[in-house]
Amino acid sequence: MVQLNNVWSTLKTIFTFYEFQRYLRARRIYHYAPYPLKIYEQCLKSLKSSPSHQLVPFLAYEGIDRERDRVFVRHDVDTQQCIKNLPETMEIDQRLKIEAGIYLRVDDEEYSAGDHRDMLLRYREQEFEIGLHSLCYTKEDYIQEFQRETEKFKSLMGFQPRSFSVHGLGSFRLETRTKFYQEIIHCFHQFGYDTGDIPTLRTYKHTIHDCHLDAQNRRFLYDDFLCFPRFSSKRKRYLILTHPCYWKV
Ligand SMILES: [Zn+2]
Repeated sequence: MVQLNNVWSTLKTIFTFYEFQRYLRARRIYHYAPYPLKIYEQCLKSLKSSPSHQLVPFLAYEGIDRERDRVFVRHDVDTQQCIKNLPETMEIDQRLKIEAGIYLRVDDEEYSAGDHRDMLLRYREQEFEIGLHSLCYTKEDYIQEFQRETEKFKSLMGFQPRSFSVHGLGSFRLETRTKFYQEIIHCFHQFGYDTGDIPTLRTYKHTIHDCHLDAQNRRFLYDDFLCFPRFSSKRKRYLILTHPCYWKV
């Protein structure tokens, strides 16, 4: 019996692998940035009306829906243009009642989160999750830097963030970033956090995002924003990740 179970589980793993590869090969470039926000809105609307998907509040990671796949929405505010465009994206989330997560940098390189505090606090009152978008792994002592960022977030925004995400920089200091993912899971509570959207705390079957890069350094998105993928395994989690700088009305 044990052997049969092993064979079945190996077959399932092989099938899942090929199913995913087939999906990757079949998807097509749909649009280059800037993308019309209609695409984002259409994606959310079709998920909302889908009997097999459920859009859930960003922090509701643990819940289980036996029938439907769970979809989370996260906005990373990376640049000055992102914070400028954020209200247009948020208008759609508010209208469709999507409880997305919004993640803010506090390094002041692109923008100062404190300059937008009133707007961000309004979103927080409306149940949007507002957390730290950390760049701590760009420093040698990344745990100390994470603590410093958390303190700065508190002084800029006036509240303790419950969650964090990490700003991606491709392969830059990837090894350190991975080390951070492994170490922070043992101590994020001591910095006041409940959770973080990092691979050692949350996993997704697939992330649909807006920052693919072609050989000419142009950002694009695939047609998965139009036609959300479905995979055969049950009870999956998906992430829709956007950067408002790439979108326009
Ligand atoms: Zn980022």
